[in-house]
Amino acid sequence: MRSAGETCLPASVTRAGINLIIQAVITRCMRRIAVYGKGGIGKSTTSSNVSDALAEKGLRVMQIGCDPKADSTRLLTGTERPATVLQKMRDGGELELDDIVAEGRHGVLCVECGGPRPGMGCAGRGIMAAFAELERLDAMDVCRPDVIVYDVLGDVVCGGFAMPIRNGYARDVFVVTSGEMMSLYAANNISEAVAGFREDGYARFGGLIQNSRGVAGEDGLVDAAAAEMGSRTVYRVPRSPAVQECEARLTTVVSGAPDSAQAEEYRRLAQTLYDLSEDVAGAMRLGPLGGCDC
Ligand code: ADP
Ligand code: MG
Repeated sequence: MRSAGETCLPASVTRAGINLIIQAVITRCMRRIAVYGKGGIGKSTTSSNVSDALAEKGLRVMQIGCDPKADSTRLLTGTERPATVLQKMRDGGELELDDIVAEGRHGVLCVECGGPRPGMGCAGRGIMAAFAELERLDAMDVCRPDVIVYDVLGDVVCGGFAMPIRNGYARDVFVVTSGEMMSLYAANNISEAVAGFREDGYARFGGLIQNSRGVAGEDGLVDAAAAEMGSRTVYRVPRSPAVQECEARLTTVVSGAPDSAQAEEYRRLAQTLYDLSEDVAGAMRLGPLGGCDC
């Protein structure tokens, strides 16, 4: 018979060791990357190729589209687009994770928050409602991704669109921009928003991803803007016709033209974001909603 306090485990397994293992199991670590930027700048193209490249390496990746256009994951899912969280909520009835999570290329788990009916309601509030629903469904604990990529519209950083950088959702925030003035302006707004939520102690500004447009002196313009934000350009993605060729076939470049130079660029970008982001514990956790005041 064992005496009190004795376990059936080998003597080399200490109590402290067991506690560490339990801790690791209950506080699961994952990378949580938010990709912001002006509408049309290339967030979804960039996010989808990054997600695909990380999944190709064997990581479990989830991409969450936070844009009322709801087209974030189209290159990953092809014609099998998932129903948006908000649409499913409007439809009523019991909502299940399978209804809103679609499996895309290399098994990337794809979610689209969606938006309100055109002309009705507030897109920011919609994002918040969708996040609350994902949390209610325990999406992160059930899906257990290694990396989450939030693809977020960044023209307006109202409370709703700021959601991914609050309350412990995203840890590392990157902004896609070109050398064009309006996209740099949006990038600056986002860096200010991240700084504004510094009190939350959670999200941090990771830097700019240059999605090149061929503007004169583009590299210098982007680098100078990054420096003004107290940050830096972490990667320059070249403009390439391979992107449109693959888009026409509803695929990422990583899957649609895997041997192309552009696919290699996206793989290198994915590795850069992976290396710059932190593998931290926690997942979705809705605190008191600051939220959108409109
Ligand atoms: P966003 O998600 O920011 O609204 P998208 O990712 O949908 O923008 O991209 C807008 C358009 O820009 C798409 O038609 C896409 O094919 C094109 N695009 C994005 N990045 C590149 C690139 N590096 N080279 C060529 N075209 C690109
Ligand atoms: Mg998009």
